[in-house]
Amino acid sequence: MSILEPETPVLVTDLRHYLTPDMRLPDDLPGPALRLARFQGAIVEWVTIWDLIPPIGTNVACRRRPGRRPCSGTVRAEVVENGTAIAWDCPVCGDAGWIEGWQGTPWDRSGEAFDDGSG
Ligand SMILES: [Zn+2]
Repeated sequence: MSILEPETPVLVTDLRHYLTPDMRLPDDLPGPALRLARFQGAIVEWVTIWDLIPPIGTNVACRRRPGRRPCSGTVRAEVVENGTAIAWDCPVCGDAGWIEGWQGTPWDRSGEAFDDGSG
């Protein structure tokens, strides 16, 4: 059971669309796009570092500002679609999205050895 209900309209993003061919964020990326890229990148980092299934809490604060106040929620995320996509949502305000094309981006930490500080 995914955290995302099928009828929920979600933001679907291919992370590669933000990036230059050499996988960098372009210097001229508009602010809102830059913030969204970093927000979604942080979710990808968390999920690929910890490789946790099913839905997990992340350390990523919700990006929404309902009523001009920052949402108090923290994003939940999970790997879906046989590992090809990452679904996320905010349990407080219901913001939700779907991230594709994250493999090989600077935020993709899968396959990296986790540095626990002992080495
Ligand atoms: Zn929220």
